[in-house]
Amino acid sequence: MVKKLFPKTGLLIFIIIVIPTTLFTVIELSSLNQQEKTIGDIYQKQLKSVLFSVNMYADDVVNLWVAKAGNIIESDVADNDSLLKAYTINNPQIIGLQVRQIDAKQVKLSSQEYGHLPDKVLHELDVLLEKNKHDIDKLFVYLKSNYRKVLFLDFKETEQTNVFVFAVINDDNKKFIVAITINAEDFVNEILSPRIQAIAGEEFVIGVKHRLDDRIVYSNSVDTTLVDNEVVEYFWQFPDYSIHLKPVGYTLQEVISMRARNNLWMIFGVDVLLLIAGFMVYRNIKKQIELAKIKSDFVSNVSHEIRTPLALISMYAESLQMGRVKEEVKKQKSYDIIYREANRLAGIVNNILNFSKIDNGKRSYHFSPFELNYTIVKILDNFHFHLQQNGFEFVYQPNESLPRIDGDQEAISEALINLIDNAIKYSDANKRIEIKATRNEGFVDLEVKDYGIGISEKEQKLIFQKFYRVTEGNLAHKAKGSGLGLNIVRHVVTAHGGRIHVESSPGKGSRFILSFPIHQKKSKS
Ligand code: ADP
Repeated sequence: MVKKLFPKTGLLIFIIIVIPTTLFTVIELSSLNQQEKTIGDIYQKQLKSVLFSVNMYADDVVNLWVAKAGNIIESDVADNDSLLKAYTINNPQIIGLQVRQIDAKQVKLSSQEYGHLPDKVLHELDVLLEKNKHDIDKLFVYLKSNYRKVLFLDFKETEQTNVFVFAVINDDNKKFIVAITINAEDFVNEILSPRIQAIAGEEFVIGVKHRLDDRIVYSNSVDTTLVDNEVVEYFWQFPDYSIHLKPVGYTLQEVISMRARNNLWMIFGVDVLLLIAGFMVYRNIKKQIELAKIKSDFVSNVSHEIRTPLALISMYAESLQMGRVKEEVKKQKSYDIIYREANRLAGIVNNILNFSKIDNGKRSYHFSPFELNYTIVKILDNFHFHLQQNGFEFVYQPNESLPRIDGDQEAISEALINLIDNAIKYSDANKRIEIKATRNEGFVDLEVKDYGIGISEKEQKLIFQKFYRVTEGNLAHKAKGSGLGLNIVRHVVTAHGGRIHVESSPGKGSRFILSFPIHQKKSKS
């Protein structure tokens, strides 16, 4: 039942953690491209708005020029002429100004030029105005609605020269077409450049290029190679020119891929964290389940272990009480059994109590020199009947030259009893136990050897853990125990500053060697 919980827990963790993590990753990864595109678009728009502000500024300048010239021409006063002359001189980017009076059909009635308009330009202007008659008509329509629209025209023959055309109706209701011819590149370099520098700051490189030959007209950076086509906008007023912008440092694509890379790392990090969390939860649950299993096994194992001596005690005591045992020899035998089984019961209970003390760190040891030979003989004496009953042959030759050891006699006896108990429990057909005590330099080695079922190499590393029991194999499964014996033995040995060692091979038997130092350096608890 408990075992069945493992795969269920694994499945649960898989459903709660692994599936959502995978889904999250897949969704995030697939939306990453879309996000990149969206971010790219937003960023592009932001950069375009920077260029928009350059265009807006140029538009403001042009509108101001147009308004000034328009106001002079509108008020038909005597010094009009000198005002317009001064106007062209004060704005050196203006090549010239033509004020052309027209009739209702746009036929030229008179024209007045200011500035330095070469014949070639004048001729081209005539051609342009003739060609754009329709649009010029509209300028007068707009003007009647109080909106002075400006028409931007481009000279094809004369390079770098652009013209702004607008309509004026003066106080005497005379109609004029006004054309302001300017040098586009002077306009960019002299009027726009301070503004571009202010807008670009340290963050951007902004440049103006001639669209036909890709010539850089202006750049706020000395390194003109930086003016590439990252973000491009056409000049509203000068259609032959374009404005280019690029962030300083990283390119837009670099910024986006950097973000994408960071996002990928973040997704990866979150995944790893979730998986670690999942693994930890799984391990924790597994441990809890194992503990629950150990607890339930322990209770059932101990109950079984206690039941056998209790049953024997109660059976023999009952027979004696009912007077069913008549012969003195048999009576004596019953007393012996009751005595030994009670001892055995006390041993089991002691083991549990000692383990509890060890587990709580409260077990203390009382060291004093004692004869190990004597202790062994006493224990074997107690076991004698039990061993004989179960058909065991046991060998112990007291070693006369064995030195006294400094230790806790009761605890060492308890360790030896546990080892002999195990040797009995885990012996099959070959029922022989050998006990040996030898001096080994500064140590006395106490050895218990059996010819029982043995322990596999893998299990040898685990048997000293608390509650650990080998459950594979018929006998190991049948033999009852609490899984505490060897854990207690190891604690006793290490508390004495000694070592425990096991040699065993399955089917051949086991040999447990406890090495105790002859002299304790200081008392330990
Ligand atoms: P238990 O109460 O189960 O005997 P122990 O801590 O004394 O607990 O022993 C742990 C496990 O080690 C046992 O369940 C048994 O499988 C194995 N073991 C201990 N001693 C021997 C031995 N002499 N021969 C074979 N297996 C042994």
